Amino acid sequence: MVAAAVAAEAVAAATDLNAYGELTAACTRCRLAEGRTQVVFGSGDPGADLMFVGEAPGFHEDKQGVPFVGQAGKLLERLLEGIGLSRSDVYIANVLKCRPPGNRDPQQDEIEACEPHLFRQIELIEPRVVATLGNFATKLLSGRPLGITRVHGQEQEVTLGARSVLLYPIYHPAAALYTPAMLKVLEADFARIPALLGDATADLPVAPLDVEVAGVDAAAVEPVGQLGLF
Ligand code: URA
Repeated sequence: MVAAAVAAEAVAAATDLNAYGELTAACTRCRLAEGRTQVVFGSGDPGADLMFVGEAPGFHEDKQGVPFVGQAGKLLERLLEGIGLSRSDVYIANVLKCRPPGNRDPQQDEIEACEPHLFRQIELIEPRVVATLGNFATKLLSGRPLGITRVHGQEQEVTLGARSVLLYPIYHPAAALYTPAMLKVLEADFARIPALLGDATADLPVAPLDVEVAGVDAAAVEPVGQLGLF
């Protein structure tokens, strides 16, 4: 495809994503509509090759309308910087677009009500790699019940809509806020992202098969709730 056609396609996709975001702003598909300040649709490059999917907006995200702007978001930005990327190079969204009260865990019916929004975003953005942050996004997009402790750092080919994408489960950055030694696990998993994106110059580090890093019992931190971090 010539450059002009590629650009036109990208603009068309961005416009559709914007239009879809505007539609979503009025969503009342679940009870979370009642308590939210606003819908937190997503942010970043609408044509990104790499998309992150977190859990749900927290306090700051609900106020600002942008995902991952609290402490976990700052850490996500640092991890991105570590691999030479910034927020504007990627697209960031969540499983739930509205803040659960008190940052409690998403409930199953809320996930089911909200998932069409995430699937439509993925369809419009067409990322090559979708990095799922934590259990909720990983289980939803892999369609399997395996928790993040079992599958982090191990990419898997999945079909989302009509497309095949590389799903890459990673711990939620909040895990390292609770347990600082988990930062090493996150850094190791992030270090593989450039190679997953097909950067021919990057070496592909070996996928970590377990999470025994610096004496961290990852199983103990697996249920990463949002608690008071956001
Ligand atoms: N945690 C998430 O999962 N998403 C956010 O947007 C913020 C914190």
